[in-house]
Amino acid sequence: MNIFVCISHVPDTTARILVGGDGKSIDPSGVTFILNPYDEFGVEAGLLLKEAHGGDVTVVCVGGDEVKETIRKAFAMGADKGIHIKTASARDSFGVARAIADVLKDRSADAVFCGRQSIDYDGWQVPGLIAEMLGISSVTAVSSLTIDAGGAVTAERDIEGGKETIVTALPAVIAAQKGLNNPRYPKLQGIMAAKKKPIEEIEPAPFENRVRVVEMTKPPIKAAGRIVGQGADAVPELVKLLHEEAKVI
Ligand SMILES: Cc1cc2nc3c(=O)[nH]c(=O)nc-3n(C[C@H](O)[C@H](O)[C@H](O)COP(=O)(O)OP(=O)(O)OC[C@H]3O[C@@H](n4cnc5c(N)ncnc54)[C@H](O)[C@@H]3O)c2cc1C
Repeated sequence: MNIFVCISHVPDTTARILVGGDGKSIDPSGVTFILNPYDEFGVEAGLLLKEAHGGDVTVVCVGGDEVKETIRKAFAMGADKGIHIKTASARDSFGVARAIADVLKDRSADAVFCGRQSIDYDGWQVPGLIAEMLGISSVTAVSSLTIDAGGAVTAERDIEGGKETIVTALPAVIAAQKGLNNPRYPKLQGIMAAKKKPIEEIEPAPFENRVRVVEMTKPPIKAAGRIVGQGADAVPELVKLLHEEAKVI
């Protein structure tokens, strides 16, 4: 099977994020970047599909030269090839999806895995847009998946308070939810092999963003906590404040 996995290069979940000097972007200085955690489920799903039915796994990433290190992390897990769609300037979600769809449209993709969301800008848009642009089905928030040799897909999706089971057929875009699988840890052999795997570089067609970030702000700093008293005597005052001030009861 011809398997593609879209991966994004995001700040480490433990990184302290600061807004850049322009007030519209993340300040990348001193920040460690990682493979988007939801995309690890996507890479694992691609590798499992290859192991079950053959084929190869190509990871695709849109971004500046720095994303190559993230492509190599996916190589270390076992992906075979990489496509780096080179763009140093910010693209909106539509622009990212457009660049990916333009590259995939002539490559007979059987399965395109994505993460549920990119944890940097949290758009939740790219998988559905890619599917629409390629004219194929998409399934989001997939937490359980079987794909048979004939391309029949059965997927379980997490929905509020339960699960939804749906069926479709390849080719499809599948966006991975936490719990879909247990992403494998790269082994030393994989890390060494990652250095030699090929990365194809592609310059995307020029694109004009449809949406523009005008401001990015951090949440206001929380006020310090207040101790209203001790023991049962404090309860009436606490209830009063929760009701009248915090308005939560
Ligand atoms: C070079 C560059 C600079 C950017 N700078 C800014 C900025 O300064 N401010 C700002 O607000 N936004 C910036 N963005 C982010 C952009 O606006 C989108 O939010 C982001 O690229 C992904 O869209 P999303 O949040 O909708 O992803 P989601 O839809 O949440 O992601 C879902 C899945 O789509 C796939 N995916 C998402 N992004 C990529 C990618 N880049 N490559 C491959 N697969 C991907 C992954 O599988 C991911 O799990 C930048 C993007 C790029 C490429």
